[in-house]
Amino acid sequence: MSVVGFDVGNNTCIIAAAKPGAGIEALLNEESKREIPASISFSEKQRLIGSSSSPLLYPSSTFSQIKQLILAHPKYRHRLSYLNRKITLTPTHLLAMLLSHLKIIAERSLKSPVSDCVLSLPSYASDLARRSYLNAAHIAGLNPLLLIHDTTATALIYGIYKTDYPDDKLHVVFIDIGHSDTQVSVVAFEPGGMHVLSHASDPLLGGRDFDQILFKHFAEQFKDRYKIDVRSNAKACVRLRVACEKVKKVLSANAEAPISIECLMNDKDVRGFIKREEFEKLASGLLERVLVPCKKALEDAGVGIDTLHSVELVGSGSRIPAIVRILTEFFGKEPGRTLNASESVARGCALQCAKQSPLFKVRRYEVGPFQTKKPGGNPKVKVRIHLNPYGIAVVGSVLLIEDDTKDTDSSEASCSNSSNTEPAKAVESEISEESEPTVVDSTTTEKLSKRLHLPVTETAFGGMTETGFSGTQELEKQLADQDKLVEQTKEKKNALEAYVYDVRNKLFERYRSFATESEREEISMGLQQTEEWLYSEGDDETETVYSHFLEDLKKLADPVINRYKEEAARAQATRKLLQT
Ligand code: ATP
Ligand code: MG
Repeated sequence: MSVVGFDVGNNTCIIAAAKPGAGIEALLNEESKREIPASISFSEKQRLIGSSSSPLLYPSSTFSQIKQLILAHPKYRHRLSYLNRKITLTPTHLLAMLLSHLKIIAERSLKSPVSDCVLSLPSYASDLARRSYLNAAHIAGLNPLLLIHDTTATALIYGIYKTDYPDDKLHVVFIDIGHSDTQVSVVAFEPGGMHVLSHASDPLLGGRDFDQILFKHFAEQFKDRYKIDVRSNAKACVRLRVACEKVKKVLSANAEAPISIECLMNDKDVRGFIKREEFEKLASGLLERVLVPCKKALEDAGVGIDTLHSVELVGSGSRIPAIVRILTEFFGKEPGRTLNASESVARGCALQCAKQSPLFKVRRYEVGPFQTKKPGGNPKVKVRIHLNPYGIAVVGSVLLIEDDTKDTDSSEASCSNSSNTEPAKAVESEISEESEPTVVDSTTTEKLSKRLHLPVTETAFGGMTETGFSGTQELEKQLADQDKLVEQTKEKKNALEAYVYDVRNKLFERYRSFATESEREEISMGLQQTEEWLYSEGDDETETVYSHFLEDLKKLADPVINRYKEEAARAQATRKLLQT
C-alpha cells in the first residue's frame, strides 16, 4: 500500500507517492505529466478537471485559483446551472473535486486504492482554511493524516537527501515562490532532526502578479494601438493572460519576447514586444517585496545571514532571473536549486505520510450549558487551547471562575438548572503547544474564587455544519457518478464506432467467403446506417442506446465473424497436428 502526498497549488497540483523500497516519486497523470492544472471546467454535460479543463472554451464556467478561494475568499459561492439543475459551489467543494481527481490519478498510477495522505498548505492558512482542507479531503474519500506547511514539506525532503551534517546545527532558508504566494522558512538541521524556527510569507506575491503586470501593460498598449478594450471581453482577457504568462517565461531565458495573438477581439490580430529590462522596471515594486518575508523570517528565527548554511529556492514562480539576482545580493550567495523546484512540496508530504500514524479528528466545540452562581458577579471563563498536528486549535479544558467570598463549597457550583442564568462576562483563552491541557484543580482558592470545569461538547466536521458536509458529500457523489456515466457513455460510443470500422474493413476481405451475398449486403447496410446515425442524431446519445445499436449490429455480423474464427481455429489445429 502506497502513501501519498498532495501539493494543491494555486496553479498546479503535484502528487507524490512513497513506495516501500522504491523511494518517493512524483506520479504522472493520463497525459504523462506531473504538473496537473488546478482548475475545473463545467461543459454542458461534463465536469472537466485538471488537464481536460479549459478556460478558453469555458471562460465563464471554469474555476481556477481554488487554493486562494479557500484561503482568501472562504465565503465565495457560485450558483451554476449544470445538467438541468442549479448547484451551489463552495471553495471547499471545488477543492474536494480537485482532490477526488488527484486521488483517481494516484490510484490509476499506483494500481491500488489511495486513502491515507498528507496535504500541504501555506503557513498563513487560517484555522477555517485548515478545516476546509480537511473537509474537502474527507469529501474526496481521502484520509488526511496531517496538514503540513509547504516550506516544511520542502525542508523535510531536503533533510533526507542531506547527509553531510556537521556536528552542530545548520541553518537553511527555504523560499517557495509559487503562483499566488511567497513563503519563507528558516529551518535548523542537526543530527537528531530538524526544527522549523520561523515562517514568514507574502500571501499576495507570486507568478500571477508578474503576469498581471504584463497583462496591464499590453492591454493598455493594444487599447492605444488597436482601439480594443480587452478588459470588456472575457475570452480576450483569458487569451491575453495566457499569452502574457508565456511572455514572462520567455523572458526568463531570453533578453526579449514577442507577443502575437490572432483575432484577439473585433477580428483584430495584435502584436507586441517587450525587453527583459522593461519588464523588470515595470515589476520593480513586486521584486522589492520578495525580500520582506525573507528579512522577517530571519529576524523571527534570530539567525544572521552570515551564519546560514544555504538558501534553497523552490516554486516555479522563482524562475524569474531578477528574483534570483535580488536574493543573491541579499543573502550574499546564490540560492541553491538542490531540490526539484516544482515537486519538493508533494514529495515532502509523501515522506511525512510514510512517517505518520493515523487517527486525528476535526472538532468543533460547544461549551456549556452552564449557569453562574451569583447574579451581578464578575464571572470569567478560561479556555485552554492547544494546537493539534493539523495546526488547528483544540479546546483542552474550560473553567468558569467566579468570586465566591461567602460560599466556599465548590460542590455547590455545578451546572445545575437553577434559575440563576448570568452569562459569563469575559472569555480568556490561552494557546499552548502542549499536547495535553493542564488540569486545574476545581477546589476553592484562597482568594475565594470558585473554579468549575465546564462541559465541552465536540462536534465533528468543524467549519461546516454536519448537514453542510453531508450535503456537499452527496452532491459530490452525484457529480462523480455523472462523470463516470459520461465516461462509460464515451466508451460505449467508441466501442460501437470501432466495431463499425473493424467489420467494414474486413467484410469484403477476410470475412468475404464466410458470408452469403445477402448477408454481406445486410451487414454493409447496417454498418452504413449506424455510421451515418453516429455522426448525426446519434452523436450525443445515452450509454443504453449505444449498447442497443452495438447489440443489433452484432446480431447481424457476429455469426459471420464466428464462422471465420471457427475456421481459423480449425486451420490452426490442423497445422499443429501436421507439425507433430
Ligand atoms: P502556489 O504555490 O502559489 O500555490 P503553485 O504551486 O501552483 O502555486 P508553482 O507551480 O510553483 O505554483 O509556480 C507557478 C508559477 O510559476 C506560475 O505563475 C508560472 O507562470 C510560473 N513559472 C513557471 N515557469 C516559469 C518560468 N520559466 N519563468 C517564470 N515564471 C515561471
Ligand atoms: Mg506551490
